[in-house]
Amino acid sequence: MRVGNLSDRLTLFRGDAAVDVEKASGGQFGPDPQAVYDRWTEFVAWARANPSAGEAVPFRTEDLGAPAPRPRQVFAIGANYRDHAEEGGVGVPDHPMVFTKWPSSFTGPVGDVVLPGDTVDWEAELVAVVGRRARDVPASEGWAHVAGLTAGQDLSERTVQTRGEFPQMGLGKSFPGFSPSGPWLVTPDEFADPGDLELGCTVNGHRMQHARTRDLVFPVPVLVAELSRIVTLEPGDVIFTGTPGGVGMARRPPVYLAEGDELVTTIEGIGALRHRFVSA
Ligand code: ZN
Repeated sequence: MRVGNLSDRLTLFRGDAAVDVEKASGGQFGPDPQAVYDRWTEFVAWARANPSAGEAVPFRTEDLGAPAPRPRQVFAIGANYRDHAEEGGVGVPDHPMVFTKWPSSFTGPVGDVVLPGDTVDWEAELVAVVGRRARDVPASEGWAHVAGLTAGQDLSERTVQTRGEFPQMGLGKSFPGFSPSGPWLVTPDEFADPGDLELGCTVNGHRMQHARTRDLVFPVPVLVAELSRIVTLEPGDVIFTGTPGGVGMARRPPVYLAEGDELVTTIEGIGALRHRFVSA
């Protein structure tokens, strides 16, 4: 099942058409794409029991928003692929390295992003959305707490991120538009193996990152376990799971995003994000 946010309304996607959930459910579920996660189990049961409810209509990708636009908590994981940890000059951590991206930086899967500086970098990432409260959950039950997966970018202004004595991961990665996700949320049952998906990105058609999520140091169910040992994960919380090798900062010489560049981010079985960078 593909669920998402079309013009700020909760939407099911069937083939290349969109179904408005509030209308299709006769008001059983409201239009807020974020609120559905608090009733996720009930929603999935309704959607499965009513596979042809509602009117399926064409839509424009420009009208898609983040599948979970206003989470209570956002987690982002650093150094979660061995090759990216190595290119960053840090070791593979014993426990997930966690920071946040503030939701004011969220945006949809297609559009323009304003460059706030000249050292803006890409980070293609698998994003997981929590579907059930998780507190001290073992990794073996991790997937049961995940509503679904989507594609994301952890855009990063490297100067802000690295200036000063202590890294500013949260601020350097939370300029407006720096946390795109989409095009929709795909439920884990849709994948042959939700733990092994091809992902990557291109800039102006040149491949910059290419990896598989089976190479995550801490895979999604382990992240649910490690995070929920310390914090309570709430329905609708968003986890950016980390990026593989190939970021611009680690290249010699470094490569950063410039005005007019087009960044395309893809994850197997989910789809593509397409962003163009414009100057302030
Ligand atoms: Zn990242």
